[in-house]
Amino acid sequence: MITSFNPATGETLATFESHDDAHLDKTLAQADRAQKQWAALSLSERLPYLLAVAKTLRRNKEALARLITLEMGKPLSEAIGEVEKCAWNFEYYAQSAPQLLDDLVIPSAATDSRVVYDPLGLILAVMPWNYPFWQVMRAAAPVLVSGNGLVLKHASNVPQCALALEDVFKEAGLPAGLFSTVLVGAAKVPALIKDPRIAAVTFTGSTPAGRDIAATAAHALKKQVLELGGSDPFIVLADADVQTAATVAVKARFQNTGQSCIAAKRFIVDAAVADQFVEAFCDITRQLVVGDPLLATSTQGSMARLNLRDELHAQVQASVREGARLLMGGNPIAGPGAFYEPTVFDHVLPSMTVAREETFGPAAAILRVHNTEEAIRIANDSPFGLGAAVWTQDIDLGHRLAHQIQAGAVFINGMVASDPRLPFGGSKASGYGRELGMLGLHEFTNIKTVWRGPART
Ligand code: NAP
Repeated sequence: MITSFNPATGETLATFESHDDAHLDKTLAQADRAQKQWAALSLSERLPYLLAVAKTLRRNKEALARLITLEMGKPLSEAIGEVEKCAWNFEYYAQSAPQLLDDLVIPSAATDSRVVYDPLGLILAVMPWNYPFWQVMRAAAPVLVSGNGLVLKHASNVPQCALALEDVFKEAGLPAGLFSTVLVGAAKVPALIKDPRIAAVTFTGSTPAGRDIAATAAHALKKQVLELGGSDPFIVLADADVQTAATVAVKARFQNTGQSCIAAKRFIVDAAVADQFVEAFCDITRQLVVGDPLLATSTQGSMARLNLRDELHAQVQASVREGARLLMGGNPIAGPGAFYEPTVFDHVLPSMTVAREETFGPAAAILRVHNTEEAIRIANDSPFGLGAAVWTQDIDLGHRLAHQIQAGAVFINGMVASDPRLPFGGSKASGYGRELGMLGLHEFTNIKTVWRGPART
């Protein structure tokens, strides 16, 4: 049984029978047939379907956003932004795929030699609940435009979003089954990966689950892209525009109620400006309004599940015991919902729990450092390597530091964010492979060399 519940109220919204093996078999068979028909279309025949998906998303954005908010608790305005971004991603690939998938001609001894990008087949997407539309659609647009099909196993706490996504593709007129949702728990994932009709897997979620998926996919010799956890550093150097950095920092930490892989989690601040940064950061954090995520006045909603709030609270309590200075928050908010106070720690050391582990909720850790070298050393002293931000007015220095930081993306004087045009992904325990942009599009293609003779001597 899969249960949809509202984390802001604790109320059960709907229950669904998990799909049994016979249902899964039927779904995969239909998806397999649909993918083969889809791959037989030319690229220019596929593009209008992508635009139809974008239109469907925009047409239904209020209803879809409401579903997101009801199932995982983010403020409605953020949920609307999420649906709009999904539409943008489909528009971006509809417009740019002809160029990005164009043959790459490479001179050689052949009369003609080139690289072509063919579809792989059916891609299994195992996805998390934190951006229940965006995580799926950022993978779906490039997967589909290159001629693949997609089978979605979504997180078990967002079954209505999972089914609504399937409906978007139906309403947009794509071949039945080309995008299919299966309602199953994590235990069914290994069997899905091993199924011969599945060609590859894209996974977004926690690092431990990524390890399991990678092991199964490796054994089956199937390609995988892993987008895993993060503990992004947000470095503020002594010459930074501190007020702007603090304003962006609060958004970077508390957006999506702190439940983002690329949320800034460790604020590494030069001691010369640390007092000023901390004061501004706390002032802005105090303005957050925690409340019913359906209300326009709420800027922070509830966390997605009570057990996730418990995990965050245990990390907060451990950090207090370890000597981190709690400046605000630090407690669950009473009531049936999974609300948590916006929490700020100062004088955090790299060995403390809030700096060492990924905190997936509204808790900020501020670490004070004496110089730029120490800032970079601490930034890299993490098993994760997803995103990073550096604030400095010395642009040359910012670019030099970008090379030294171990991350899939470094944003200079800005907040780490995904953009359909730019590749997105991690290093170290944050995963491998890329999504979005040209590189994300090529991940799920067979990059094939075509050689035509006679050879020229
Ligand atoms: P999660 O527990 O790993 O779950 C993600 C998905 O994997 C769900 O569909 C889940 O199914 C399934 N799953 C869980 N354990 C599995 C296993 N051992 N084998 C196969 N599948 C498994 O992650 P989450 O708590 O939903 O999401 C939060 C995590 O995702 C954070 O670590 C966050 O940083 C990361 N994340 C990364 C990115 C990125 O782009 N790098 C983006 C967003 C989130 P059930 O729900 O049925 O258990």
